[in-house]
Amino acid sequence: MSERVPHVTEPVIPEVPEGAVLRLAPGEWSHCQAVPVDSQLAVTVARIHRNVTRHDGAGRWVWIAAHEHPACSWDHVEPHPPCRQLMVRVDVLAREVSQ
Ligand SMILES: [Zn+2]
Repeated sequence: MSERVPHVTEPVIPEVPEGAVLRLAPGEWSHCQAVPVDSQLAVTVARIHRNVTRHDGAGRWVWIAAHEHPACSWDHVEPHPPCRQLMVRVDVLAREVSQ
């Protein structure tokens, strides 16, 4: 994973509380297995992997472990390890936690 030297101020990864719900539009997330790439995606955050980021033309991305929302929070669902792993754009993350 190669990181370019930022030529502008890079977006800071915000503090995201565990359990925060992210509602992501196509293009705001990537690398989530089993979900079509042009889908809306709603997840609850389990963990932000702050040390795993990458840059592309769309900006800075960070790796997140999460659960499907709302399916994983239903009462009959047993506790389980994060079942969604995805990259989320840092600017989108900031937007979601500021709401
Ligand atoms: Zn889950």
